[in-house]
Amino acid sequence: MLLEVIPLVIGLLMLGGLAMIAGSMTRDDPRTRARWDSRFDREARELRHTDATGVLTCRRCGTSGSERAGVCPRCGAAL
Ligand SMILES: [Zn+2]
Repeated sequence: MLLEVIPLVIGLLMLGGLAMIAGSMTRDDPRTRARWDSRFDREARELRHTDATGVLTCRRCGTSGSERAGVCPRCGAAL
């Protein structure tokens, strides 16, 4: 039972460390934070765009890909 909990605790510690590193980086350099914000905005816009054009499921591997791209993002098959 204890052995099952150890990987979970290690994972949580690693996540906490990464969050602290990311937080200190964005806090130290406002330009870095602005870059992250603009990147997030761009990705959010692309997500909305994908939703507007529709999502198709790959017949070969089952991965969802945007209809506009025309090919599966994982295996490259035509959708
Ligand atoms: Zn595929």
